[in-house]
Amino acid sequence: MISFLTQQSELKSQILEGRYITYPKIESLLNDFNHKQVGTSAKGLPVHVLTMGNGPIKVLMWSQMHGNESTSTKGIMDVLYFLKANPRLLTPFTIQLIPMLNPDGAAAYTRVNANAIDLNRDAQQQSQPETLTLFKVYDAFQPDYCFNLHDQRTIFGVDDNPCMLSYLSPAADADKSITKAREQAMGIIGHMNEQLQQHIPNQVGRYDDTYNPNCVGDCFQAKGTPTILFECGHSGQDYARATTRKWFGFSVVAALNCIANNVFKPKAYDSIPEVEKSYVDILIHHVPYQVTQISLAVQYQEKLISEKITFEPTLHSKGDLSQLNAHKIIDLNKYKTVNFDTSDDTAAVRKLLKLLDLTHYSH
Ligand SMILES: [Zn+2]
Repeated sequence: MISFLTQQSELKSQILEGRYITYPKIESLLNDFNHKQVGTSAKGLPVHVLTMGNGPIKVLMWSQMHGNESTSTKGIMDVLYFLKANPRLLTPFTIQLIPMLNPDGAAAYTRVNANAIDLNRDAQQQSQPETLTLFKVYDAFQPDYCFNLHDQRTIFGVDDNPCMLSYLSPAADADKSITKAREQAMGIIGHMNEQLQQHIPNQVGRYDDTYNPNCVGDCFQAKGTPTILFECGHSGQDYARATTRKWFGFSVVAALNCIANNVFKPKAYDSIPEVEKSYVDILIHHVPYQVTQISLAVQYQEKLISEKITFEPTLHSKGDLSQLNAHKIIDLNKYKTVNFDTSDDTAAVRKLLKLLDLTHYSH
């Protein structure tokens, strides 16, 4: 386990940098692996599967089914290069990875595909070429486990901490029955959480388990394949999500160790706190407003500008915001000279943040 942390920063996958990860970047790494084109996106970009190992336990993983969720793509490529360098860990497994299921969404930096469909709500209709590709790979491979890899927004917290990583063993039916598959997925998450708590205490959450058969994870779980949703989240000012990437990769290696060594911890799953929508990017307190003072909550909007992702501040809410947490908190009492113009909220917020040198981040 330690060796992943030691080696992560040296792996070739480090050429994948920033939030904007597109198909050409994946294509440049394909020749390092046994790879095969298994489908084509709505706009004609290739969808590939990478295969590693030839052991008896089959694990299917896919990333970037939401095109603007790239942290897990970078992290899972770290894991693949790590396994390549440490083949002994791979012995029990055959791994198939679709590193970018939605290359059109990745190019446009959107959640949806080129037909504006959320592929993770298309499991029943299977109306999109990318969804059909995923199900074709699933049917042919018949995996023993599925890892469904995503990013979550900055809004999630666990208790009073930011949620850096969250996990879900999706429900397999509306009653949320603990099926055998679901229990196994819970057991892997319980193990990952125990490992992570030693390094990033109180920053791991459990995602909402409302059953939705249109979600791919719920669908595979219902078919009897233990399936885990991985969500890379946000912490502090790490808008590149480099720290999240590291601990996500660590947790995937922990998951493989759990399966290989049969150390499932299903009871530990329930002790993981549920994620809450409790965070904004910036909270500004003591803002002069008419004859009183208020707080402002600011949320970044991610925009693709000149091949970079720019984080543009927008007003989320104002008033008494004592219930909210934030990744950055500013007390305007410390900035006596700042005036807040209340005629246009968004413009005023941007002007204020410019004065405070917090206009935007680019990645
Ligand atoms: Zn997602």
